[in-house]
Amino acid sequence: MTGAVFSRAAGRDLPVVAGGRGAELFDTTGRRYLDAAGGAIVVGIGHGSAEVADAIAAQARSVAYVHGSAFASPSLTEYVETLGPLLPVDDPYVYPVSGGSEAVETALKMARAYHLARGEDRSVVIGRTGAYHGNTRGALDVSGRDGLRAPYLPWLGSAARTTSPYEYRCSFPDSHPNGCGAQHAEALEQVIVAQGPQNVAAFIAEPIAGAALGACVPSADYWPAITEVCHRYGVLVIADEVMTGFGRTGRWFGSDHWGVRPDLLVAAKGAASGYWPLGLTVCSGEVHDTIQKAGFVHGFTYSHHAVGAAAGLAVLKILQRDGLVEAAAERGEQLGAELQKELGDHPHVGDIRGRGLLWAVELVADRETKAPFPRSERVAERIVAAAKERGVLLYHSTGCANGTEGDLLVFGPPLVITPAEVTEVAKGSANAIREILSA
Ligand code: PMP
Repeated sequence: MTGAVFSRAAGRDLPVVAGGRGAELFDTTGRRYLDAAGGAIVVGIGHGSAEVADAIAAQARSVAYVHGSAFASPSLTEYVETLGPLLPVDDPYVYPVSGGSEAVETALKMARAYHLARGEDRSVVIGRTGAYHGNTRGALDVSGRDGLRAPYLPWLGSAARTTSPYEYRCSFPDSHPNGCGAQHAEALEQVIVAQGPQNVAAFIAEPIAGAALGACVPSADYWPAITEVCHRYGVLVIADEVMTGFGRTGRWFGSDHWGVRPDLLVAAKGAASGYWPLGLTVCSGEVHDTIQKAGFVHGFTYSHHAVGAAAGLAVLKILQRDGLVEAAAERGEQLGAELQKELGDHPHVGDIRGRGLLWAVELVADRETKAPFPRSERVAERIVAAAKERGVLLYHSTGCANGTEGDLLVFGPPLVITPAEVTEVAKGSANAIREILSA
């Protein structure tokens, strides 16, 4: 054998991609697809941007790589100065890495380093049920996806877990419709107390759970109540904005919907829109000053990469110049309304939820009881395949908050998607659902 790709689509033949433009992709047979998931909710500014490609080429031609401990790089300085005012973090310091998992690992280490520098031996990080924060060991440790964690449990450590705000299958149904933030905050407080507040370093969560649970928007009182509890016990708040950052939910960052000011924030996906593997860990000035004074020893060969910074800067300028965050809010309203119109009455559509251009459709065997289909039926995977046949690319998840494994279709198209394309996505995916789940 001359060498082969370790495929992520074991046993399936994949079309061969030839190119892309905006929200469209083309394969080598000339077929057109609408990328309604931006790959894995990655592509914000759209495919085929010559502007970003040129910025990457210019930086690579000038100098592609210097070690971050040896040189400052003008593109990185300009990138961070442009990004800083948009970040929902006080006096932000940006540590650029190569993706979401690395960004999460970096944030976890920063959180522990912060407490150690202050003379407190705190190590426990609290995550949430059903959450996904990455596939490396530390990130998997703070994730709440039991299926992903199970084979590696002997390697996983000390993370604790609290409830997820999952309105459709809420842990506190009696508190609706007034919101269940207080109950979730109480549950978090119980976990902190059980662990011993002196041991708890941080709480990590997505502002809007996208990765595993599919666009779960918490009630308005959730984030204020959660951050109050964390700060009362000296627990740092880590906002995982890998999916929700850079305009995805119709604001620059998901935290902005509630005015949350996290101590640490991680981003990736939309940061360089897929043009470069860029992740960011952002810490507040207070965290930065504390850990730098004590000496924070960390780094990856490719952190602070000049080409990554050039890609991120070009993407950021396009997001700003073309008003794509506002566009995401508008197109998102349209997508939500059209999904509701197409699927609101379908007997196997349990929930349609989202914000900005991050939406999910949760499929159920029985709308009354909300019982999911047996996972062995692979309903979501079959619908994704049927939608692809119709030229609409979706993402699926088997969200499992509150112990439930289910079937979720996730929508996260490029923010440049046009109104006509939004309609194509809603109709194409609804037809795929009807084909697989005839009423
Ligand atoms: N956190 C969240 C919320 C994510 O959605 C993801 C990726 N799906 C990650 C972390 C991990 O990012 P990466 O795959 O770039 O390592």
